Amino acid sequence: MMGGILQTDHQPATIHHLILDSRIFQIQAGSLFFAIEGVRHNGHHYIAEVYQKGVRNFVVSDPSYISALQDINVILVENVLASLQKLAENHRNKFTYPVIGITGSNGKTIVKEWLAHLLDRDFNIVKSPKSYNSQTGVPLSLWRFQDEHNLALVEAGISEPGEMQLLARMIRPTTGIFTNVGPAHQENFADIDEKIKEKLSLFAEAETLIYCKDHPRIHEMIGVNFGDKPTRLLSWSRHPGADLVLTKETQNEDHTLLGGNFGGTYHEITIPFTHASSIENACHCWLLMLHMGISDAVIGSRMPLLPPIAMRLEQLAGINRCLVINDAYNSDVMSLEIALSQLKLQRKNKKFTAILSDILQSGEPQEILYGNVAALLHHYKVDRFIGIGPQLSAHSGLFSGENTRFFPDTETFLHTFRKDDFREENILIKGARNFAFERISERLEEQTHETILEIDLNRMQQNLNYIRTLLKPSTKIMAMVKAFAYGSGGYEIARFLEFNRVDYLAVAYTDEGVALRQTGIEMPIMVLNPEISGYDSMIRYRLEPQIYNFRTLQSFLQALERSDLEGAFPVHLKINTGMNRLGFDLLEIEALSAAIARTDLIRVVSVFSHLAASESAEHDARTLAQISAFEKAADQLRDILPQPFLRHILNSNGIDRHPDAQYEMVRLGLALYGISPDTEARKQLNPVSRLVTTISQIRIVPKGEGIGYSPKKLLATEKRIAVIPIGYADGMPRKLGNGIGHVVIDGKKAPFIGNICMDMSMVDITNISCAEGDEVEVFGEHRSIYALADELETIPYEVLTNISQRVKRVFHSE
Ligand SMILES: *Cc1c(COP(=O)(O)O)cnc(C)c1O
Repeated sequence: MMGGILQTDHQPATIHHLILDSRIFQIQAGSLFFAIEGVRHNGHHYIAEVYQKGVRNFVVSDPSYISALQDINVILVENVLASLQKLAENHRNKFTYPVIGITGSNGKTIVKEWLAHLLDRDFNIVKSPKSYNSQTGVPLSLWRFQDEHNLALVEAGISEPGEMQLLARMIRPTTGIFTNVGPAHQENFADIDEKIKEKLSLFAEAETLIYCKDHPRIHEMIGVNFGDKPTRLLSWSRHPGADLVLTKETQNEDHTLLGGNFGGTYHEITIPFTHASSIENACHCWLLMLHMGISDAVIGSRMPLLPPIAMRLEQLAGINRCLVINDAYNSDVMSLEIALSQLKLQRKNKKFTAILSDILQSGEPQEILYGNVAALLHHYKVDRFIGIGPQLSAHSGLFSGENTRFFPDTETFLHTFRKDDFREENILIKGARNFAFERISERLEEQTHETILEIDLNRMQQNLNYIRTLLKPSTKIMAMVKAFAYGSGGYEIARFLEFNRVDYLAVAYTDEGVALRQTGIEMPIMVLNPEISGYDSMIRYRLEPQIYNFRTLQSFLQALERSDLEGAFPVHLKINTGMNRLGFDLLEIEALSAAIARTDLIRVVSVFSHLAASESAEHDARTLAQISAFEKAADQLRDILPQPFLRHILNSNGIDRHPDAQYEMVRLGLALYGISPDTEARKQLNPVSRLVTTISQIRIVPKGEGIGYSPKKLLATEKRIAVIPIGYADGMPRKLGNGIGHVVIDGKKAPFIGNICMDMSMVDITNISCAEGDEVEVFGEHRSIYALADELETIPYEVLTNISQRVKRVFHSE
């Protein structure tokens, strides 16, 4: 089926599960691991790990990795990804039911999920889980096709030319939806037309193609590419000449009424959204339903119930040191499985709790549905299960174990809720919408005041991917997570970096490293400022010191002698080449080599130095001198030291501006957080954090009054002001008070008025329409952290690291 040579010394297997990632999977009988090779990632390296976990069936391109394994089935192929895609293609071809293929720059996942909502009472639907739309996501989506389904919804996403043909061959959609086109991934395409053309190739064989005629480029490219094809083109537009012509668009507070002509008659729908993108997504769905001949009555009754689609998994700090993972994504078994696998990765706490509601409209008999849920909970070793809803309560017998409790509804659960019942555990909350589980997550969230630092892990991932394109595939990355990961939250960021297979972490102090170890971070960690008093715990927690002078070398050697550790302990040597902070001077290298040669207690894993002004062209001559001095020192050490070591000198700006000096490793800091002093480099990076708060109170203050402590001036005119819960103790410097700084509310500038207090401040909202509880942005999309840093006469590093620990960090990821 996939092409390739089968070698087997194991009983023949029937394959049920395809596994691409050694980190997220459940071991079940009939699992097949594909050792996919990417630019940086080689799946073969994880074969031993998945074998350990019980997998016995492998598709590989390099047989040397499996030669030592017993009792396995192996298919040897030339290209593992291609064979996965071939398998998916063959599987999909077994089914003749309609396949709706969805692509475009934005809205793919929402259109897919909405169609599933709109059609799931009439069809047994199979669809891509979450946004599984890539070269590997699509095969996994297609693999789910079964006989009992009668309609498929599959999304396809690309980032480079040539990719869509591969997806098209697998998906072979019978109906296509082209959502829209935007700037994403434009850097990989010559122009927008080339990108549209590439995306359109998904529909080369589709019978019907649905699109919005008001995107002129799309409309024209469809004309060029489908003019002579039998494909039925179905468009909607706000102008005459389309199959569905919108003639009415009335927006109210929270819903939109849309009216239009289709097939000679007038139709109308109401959707519970007002945003332009929601209207666009809804129109694609509407046109498809009209085309399918679904009655106005049915369409009209379902459209108002379209749910918001939360694409993100929200992680937040909970009460009693719990970690709360809030998955508002729709409730089905597949997304439950994805959420559980994510939960398992969070090793902050040992105990796992899942709070789930009934799964509605699954189409499966309840016995089987809840049997599957119970099996998943068992498989992922959930310690405690709280089931909410009449169906779960009726099937409580399927859930074995003492630690299960069932409630008929959310209200009853909240009635018995006690904070003390939840302590040091990871809690997954996942409920169908009408169970209103947000009321549960509110109770479980740590109550801080309502100022939060939002951190977008998808953006951090994009930054990391971008940095990797600047590096040779073999260059290692040490990620700097000092100062609580530049203010972003130590554990969560470290966890993210470990998951993304960064090679090393670096923290400033031993305590930070110990905290990471205690929450389960296992990767190597270097400590930049190892205090002598902390050497014993460094050794205990396998934290690797930076050794920067003879004093630290001697005392660390003494600590090693005291310990009962066996083998040489890894250390890093810091050389001073011009930063003139910590480090051995060049003249000391010879004595250093001699001292290290005399002991077998330590092993030098790396030698490094730090650039003083890597961001600035003005200092390039000194930077190059630093680099060459470093190289000389490293050569000198290499002549003496028995083992090879890694060399590293580049920080973020160094990577950008002096990539030739990447040696074997780089130290990545600010760029990971999406920030750069260089305006060109900024264009490639996405700032990951946003500091936001909410309006606590609004008041009108009459002319002649003062605002806050010891006002400098009394009001010359009446003002409307908002009180916001952020003050200098949160990292909002007092110097910004009295009109110097501002925040952004409803996209508009709201200047501080009066002095900034310790925990609160006041802003002028006289000309802004807003209400209590509305969001206030301190920095983020509307107000860049650079502008704020400029106003404070400092640099973004300081702004970020000044945000107080009492400000809650909330992490988002897809
Ligand atoms: C903080 C730090 C870095 C990272 O610097 P960025 O400019 O944030 O990339 C690298 N090396 C050392 C020694 C550091 O202290």
